[in-house]
Amino acid sequence: MTKWVYTFDQVSEAESLVGDWDSVRGLLGGKGANLADMTRLGVPVPPGFTITTQACNAYSDAGQVPDGMWDEVAEALAHVEEHTGKVFGDPSNPLLVSCRSGAKFSMPGMMDTVLDIGLNHEVAESLVDISGDAHFVYDSYRRLIQMYGSVVLDKADEPYEEILTEFREKTGAAIDADLPTDSLKEIVERFLEITPEFPSDPDAQLKLAVEAVFRSWNSRRAIDYRNASNIPHDLGTAVNVQTMVFGNLGDNCGTGVAMSRHGATGENHIEGDYLMNAQGEDVVAGIRATLTLDHMKENMPGIYDELLATADQLEKHYRNMQDMEFTIESGKLWLLQTRDGKRTAQAAVRIAVEMAEDGLISKEEAVARVTPDQIDFFLHPQFSAESRKAGDLLAKGLNVSPGAAVGIIAFDADTAVDWAAEGKDVILVRPETKPDDVHGMLAAKGIVTSRGGRTSHAALVARQFGKPAVVGIAELNIDLDARNMSIGGRVIDEGEFISIEGTGGEVFLGQLPTFVPDINDHWLSSLLEWADDIRRLKVLANADYPVDANRARDYGAEGIGLCRTEHMFFEAERLPTVQKMILADTVEERQKALDVLLPFQREDFRGLFEAMSGMPVIIRLIDPPLHEFLPGAEELKSEIAAATDDAEIATLEKILARVFELHEENPMLGFRGVRLGVLMPEISRMQARAIIEAACDAKENGATPMPEVMIPVSIHVNEIRLLKKLIVEVAEEVMEARGVKVDYKVGTMVETPRAAMTADQLATEAEFFSFGTNDLTQTTFAISRDDAEKSFLIQYVDRGVLPVNPFQTLDRDGVGGLIKIAVEGGRKTRPGMEIGICGEHGGDPESVHLCHELGLDYVSCSPFRVPVARLAAAQAVLNEKA
Ligand code: ADP
Ligand code: MG
Ligand code: MG
Repeated sequence: MTKWVYTFDQVSEAESLVGDWDSVRGLLGGKGANLADMTRLGVPVPPGFTITTQACNAYSDAGQVPDGMWDEVAEALAHVEEHTGKVFGDPSNPLLVSCRSGAKFSMPGMMDTVLDIGLNHEVAESLVDISGDAHFVYDSYRRLIQMYGSVVLDKADEPYEEILTEFREKTGAAIDADLPTDSLKEIVERFLEITPEFPSDPDAQLKLAVEAVFRSWNSRRAIDYRNASNIPHDLGTAVNVQTMVFGNLGDNCGTGVAMSRHGATGENHIEGDYLMNAQGEDVVAGIRATLTLDHMKENMPGIYDELLATADQLEKHYRNMQDMEFTIESGKLWLLQTRDGKRTAQAAVRIAVEMAEDGLISKEEAVARVTPDQIDFFLHPQFSAESRKAGDLLAKGLNVSPGAAVGIIAFDADTAVDWAAEGKDVILVRPETKPDDVHGMLAAKGIVTSRGGRTSHAALVARQFGKPAVVGIAELNIDLDARNMSIGGRVIDEGEFISIEGTGGEVFLGQLPTFVPDINDHWLSSLLEWADDIRRLKVLANADYPVDANRARDYGAEGIGLCRTEHMFFEAERLPTVQKMILADTVEERQKALDVLLPFQREDFRGLFEAMSGMPVIIRLIDPPLHEFLPGAEELKSEIAAATDDAEIATLEKILARVFELHEENPMLGFRGVRLGVLMPEISRMQARAIIEAACDAKENGATPMPEVMIPVSIHVNEIRLLKKLIVEVAEEVMEARGVKVDYKVGTMVETPRAAMTADQLATEAEFFSFGTNDLTQTTFAISRDDAEKSFLIQYVDRGVLPVNPFQTLDRDGVGGLIKIAVEGGRKTRPGMEIGICGEHGGDPESVHLCHELGLDYVSCSPFRVPVARLAAAQAVLNEKA
């Protein structure tokens, strides 16, 4: 037979019945389980009992309480009466109780509590005699009727509040608790007039209150809250019936809340608020100014010490920071609730580290307790919670790249660059972004778009460069001609300030103050060092420039996993030379242009080797199709139309002809990557020379360069054989000429199913593999990311056709399956060969876990994701152990 009710001293029984503590919490709810647990620990808790979540579910299913439940309630109530020496409903010695909801997971303020159950006229009059405090009795009575009206009978609060206001005005009382006793008595009568259904029978009061708490589980706001916080709907709530203790019995009474450590900073010091002579919700209601615990220390030192000792005891027991509710009745402390406290990212890190330093938890537990998002917090400027609350919220969109940014609106990339050059902070606002906008995105402090999803260009670039971004604000209307945007009937001009919050996806009008968390924060550094001790995966960074490499090293990167050489080609002073190289009609002409590019590349690479001395630097040979370096056909046509000079027209026409020649239907699957090197070997030769010469330079400067030359989008071992031969020739020649020896490797990216399936063959030539998981995902799914995200992919994920966006989180079965085959194939041919991934996925915690499982050596991600990847890699080890 199901047991529906457990008294607080029956927790061991519940535990032996359902097994572990998590199941006890499921059965009794978090509040009930902990009240019973505290009782067992000897912490002062007013006696009571818990009606289980199973009873709630039975009620929800059948529309009535299960058979036998009320009998068990009566029995438990008798047990409480025995304990307290008081009797529920007996005017000569009345017991009053509260009826409190409490689900497995805390749903603050979502469900309801009724205090002071058991009062009626007769009980009230007798209680006045017993307590000698009529004010307290009628204050409690009027609270009961109002709470009962709103919680059990679903009545609006306003009529009650109107009556209270009327009496405050009449008597000059500042707050309800100051109302004279006579007024409180009158108020009780007036309340009863507007609450004719209020039962005077205490048993009826209790039963109806219990059923109301059951029903509150399925209230609109509770359902919405569960949807928003991913709490299952079938858990049900427990109901706790508990002896009332009174904080409103005079000046040696009070009620309050306390955290065993500081919830915002994590400081190891109790903090809290309380009110003297007050009950229940008064503290949170915010009507009276609360007092701090320092005040309690002065005025009730004994209680303060006991609270401190209890907090300490509970922390040690739960091995976590506790959030407690307490009441002081006539100089005696009672605990009414305890749970693990909510905390900011900074507090989470500090608390985890200090608890481990104190030996309360292990270092592994500390590492496991902090989430990757909490680490991410330290890498971006933030708005304080207060400034967000006070801010003028314009819109909400997708929170695709975390952090806060403030600046003036610029509606195009060039404007953003110009204004940034003038020293202004700019937010780039676009309908969507394209590769042409990247210079503006880099110049901007943050990015907002009205279209696009989580893996849109704007989102990817923003994350790559650590720029806060909010995208996909559908209601935002951007008028690029009028240079303004409108939303919710408001029109905002270019040049006006906005503040964006990429962690929550909010856009505010005006300038919100920001602060930058400290990445060198002592506690964060300790935590990440512990993570480093635990993890097996190395963490490298994707970086193209020495500044990025230095930042990556500060963040703990152990090398560069991907340097995209073509980024260096896009720089303003170099692009014309790159274009000359592409337009060249003869090999000689092309070589001339390459000779101009060589010193630029060499300088860039030397900087990288010096920044990453003693660590691998993996440099990818040119990858994109050549047309990407030329202007678009439309642009050229209008330039030709506008040009007057014949020579200029001739040049432009030549470029246009080449653009047409290079045009491909599917450039992503076209003439790019290794194929450029095979058919235009002089490009690869120049790049190989720049790499090896730079390594020689770096070595002469005292650094230890570890270059690895990486061949992109290979599909056949023959491609690698050709390019490797060429690279080795150049390298030997350079080293010979320079009289310097550097260790280098030649390897390939694995970005196509064919490469993965023939990895054993590729490994006969390739000395390392790096999975380019963006391309590998595209080629495995046979969908183009840019097109898919614009059309169907986001809806696919929304409707659950695909479980996740595979461009955000590595697809375990498909892409992961190919990686597995490639790892096995590669290592069969070349045991112990170095294998890793580069690309967005390297900074995604779930993907990092998969890389760990697949036995890769490293993940490489954007510098800003390095600390996150370090934590995720450690958590992958801990998960595996668990
Ligand atoms: P919530 O889940 O909204 O915090 P609670 O059940 O914790 O609701 O009740 C809210 C407040 O009511 C408690 O913080 C406490 O101050 C007061 N309260 C509840 N039960 C009792 C009781 N038995 N005696 C005194 N005060 C109580
Ligand atoms: Mg509470
Ligand atoms: Mg690629």
